[in-house]
Amino acid sequence: MTMRRVVVVGGSIAAVTAIDALRLHGYEGSIVMVSAERHAPYSRVPLSKDVLSGASSAETAQLPALDDSVDLILGDRATTLDTTSRTVELASGARVPFDGLVVATGARPIRLAEDGQTGELVLRDLPDAMVIAERASHATSAIVVGGGFLGMEVASTLLDLGLAVTLVDREPPLRRLLGPWMASLVTTAAVAKGLRVVHGSGNVQLIGDPVDGVRLGDGQTLRADLVVSAVGDRPAAEWLASSGLPVRGGVVVDEQCRVAPGVVAAGDVAVVQRPAGLLTRSPHWTNAVEQGRVAAISLIDADNAVEARPDPYYWTEQFGLNIKIVGNLPGLGSPEILDGDVESRSALLQWGNSCEPVATIAAINYRIAVGRLKKLRAVGDGT
Ligand SMILES: Cc1cc2nc3c(=O)[nH]c(=O)nc-3n(C[C@H](O)[C@H](O)[C@H](O)COP(=O)(O)OP(=O)(O)OC[C@H]3O[C@@H](n4cnc5c(N)ncnc54)[C@H](O)[C@@H]3O)c2cc1C
Repeated sequence: MTMRRVVVVGGSIAAVTAIDALRLHGYEGSIVMVSAERHAPYSRVPLSKDVLSGASSAETAQLPALDDSVDLILGDRATTLDTTSRTVELASGARVPFDGLVVATGARPIRLAEDGQTGELVLRDLPDAMVIAERASHATSAIVVGGGFLGMEVASTLLDLGLAVTLVDREPPLRRLLGPWMASLVTTAAVAKGLRVVHGSGNVQLIGDPVDGVRLGDGQTLRADLVVSAVGDRPAAEWLASSGLPVRGGVVVDEQCRVAPGVVAAGDVAVVQRPAGLLTRSPHWTNAVEQGRVAAISLIDADNAVEARPDPYYWTEQFGLNIKIVGNLPGLGSPEILDGDVESRSALLQWGNSCEPVATIAAINYRIAVGRLKKLRAVGDGT
């Protein structure tokens, strides 16, 4: 099929990377980007960190501007996809025809509030960050529900802003993401800075309308001026429900990010069907970048389609710790200390892994270029 017009639905890093890659790989046809957000594309990464704290302005989160040849439709949402007429319908009623389609609609936060219950705070986009910052500016206490990366970063920033912060989770914070050794190191730093960590078995329920607290599974209630839920997200794929495309949790892609002829998807909205039938999702920045690039190539140059291979690189900043990790989940035991020392919280660490031949390397408050960190892992791995 001649590809005269590519429509990219989504307005963030996966969409922008796909657009850059389309041009980089020689696509000269028309590109239309449709984003539900009113803002030009920006990065979510600083929203829980410097933007929420006020250390950086919202402008610093902007992604580099797209080239002038791209038609931007901002503040309008795709509501339906018709794969027969190859048209995307928008909330405004506009219909946007395409030859090729990139689905990059990301994810939406899971909410805990009951229907109609007001006042729950979540952090996914710039307006969310502005609302939390404004509420925090005349609050003295906060509850954060969820001890993953996002919840811990929000808790850390609110603590820095002078609030008394309680973090509630069913599990020890970060354990599933960072393994017990590293999770314990971060939690110790968090508690030393004043974070109160409360474990509650069972589901956490928001109480009050507007929300002003939580009820834990054991019946215990906690109150605070603001309550932020950070309990995960769901792919924003509901607009594809009647399209006939495979949607199981997220939109199902193969390892080359292909969904159907002339349709690809990338980033947080996508789940990858592995050859063994397993569906995997990787809602991280580096994955959105890699899938955006690969999706664009698959769309316009199918003969040279490549597998998406995101760098297993992730990072977080919280409670005075700047952590960079290359590799999979850090191992269960204590790491080997390659340099620095853990007591003073500046160290370069390595875990071997009995299940995989590849080591995991972590830098904590340790100045090292990401490229060097990746090389170290390759050396540890013997490759
Ligand atoms: C506060 C915060 C901090 C983070 N920090 C880190 C970090 O430190 N490291 C890291 O690796 N990852 C981090 N992440 C995760 C990372 O930001 C995401 O993995 C990444 O943004 C995914 O990019 P995406 O383009 O796939 O989706 P998104 O960023 O979710 O963008 C999707 C876009 O599509 C638009 N959209 C949705 N539905 C529609 C529709 N129907 N029609 C039109 N447009 C639509 C949305 O408005 C949005 O613009 C963080 C996320 C958050 C929220």
